[in-house]
Amino acid sequence: MAVFVMGHKSPDTDSVTAAVAFAELQKALGVDAVPCRQGDPNPETELAFKKFGVPMPELMTDVTGKQYMLVDHSDIKQAPDNWDKGELLAVVDHHKIGDITTASPIFFCAMPVGCTGTVLYKLYTDMFKKPIDSKVAGLMLSAILSDTVLFKSPTCTPDDKAAAEALAKIAGISDIKAWGLELAKAKSSVEGVPPMDLIHRDYKDFNMSGKTVGIGQLELVSLSQVSNDLKCAIMDNLQKMKVDGNRHSVFLMLTDTMEKEGTELLAVTDDPSVVEKAFGKKLEGNSVWLPGVMSRKKQMVPPLEKAFAS
Ligand code: MG
Ligand code: MG
Ligand code: MG
Repeated sequence: MAVFVMGHKSPDTDSVTAAVAFAELQKALGVDAVPCRQGDPNPETELAFKKFGVPMPELMTDVTGKQYMLVDHSDIKQAPDNWDKGELLAVVDHHKIGDITTASPIFFCAMPVGCTGTVLYKLYTDMFKKPIDSKVAGLMLSAILSDTVLFKSPTCTPDDKAAAEALAKIAGISDIKAWGLELAKAKSSVEGVPPMDLIHRDYKDFNMSGKTVGIGQLELVSLSQVSNDLKCAIMDNLQKMKVDGNRHSVFLMLTDTMEKEGTELLAVTDDPSVVEKAFGKKLEGNSVWLPGVMSRKKQMVPPLEKAFAS
């Protein structure tokens, strides 16, 4: 029986590449593993798969009656539909432990590093001692560069750097920075993309003290890529998502990764004071500039959860 391996909804590069890398590792261990994805790949993910000549995994969003493994998340809100009507066999992740539970013991490996690709590198080399295919290594390297924003994110650890260097050698990538920049440019392309697609490029719903809070992140090489017209269109769509999804708040991080290294946070919320509580700065209209903020996981989710709990 096939076992399906998948990352979170609104998949990023780590979510799709980790599904491939973990499925390959499972195959090496004798499991009939099939990588899949829970949504359309973003332009950066497409570039990485094209560069290393790996076919894009199939779409799968419902695991009813299926055996499956999760990578890059363990939150119900990001998991496939009917997660509890299938059998979860394994989780490999680098986020806080989510709210998924199982009836039986499973393989569960989470580490506080910058990328699932780094956890998988350790599983391949340290735990299972299996060789990494050069194409798969290229995908894992791309995920590390993406998740750590070229090693600049506060989530980046020495393990991420070491894994990236080792994977680059296997993949035959001599200039890591140049490849990282190419990925960053693909990730940040906004031209001709509908606002709703930009919001969903890297979007997650969270349960914060019983309230649904959506947080999207748009990584940009420069903030100037987002014109005022586009910002207005984005705000309209955030408002629509808030109403349609019965959400308490919807946030979009416009993260300038290369020039200003910070985030302009766009917000629609029932309670603007949560922003001030979380970041010590008031919304001006619908936005606030947060210098140095690059990581949703480390610099957005924890302070917001605290603010919602207070
Ligand atoms: Mg991810
Ligand atoms: Mg990740
Ligand atoms: Mg990410």
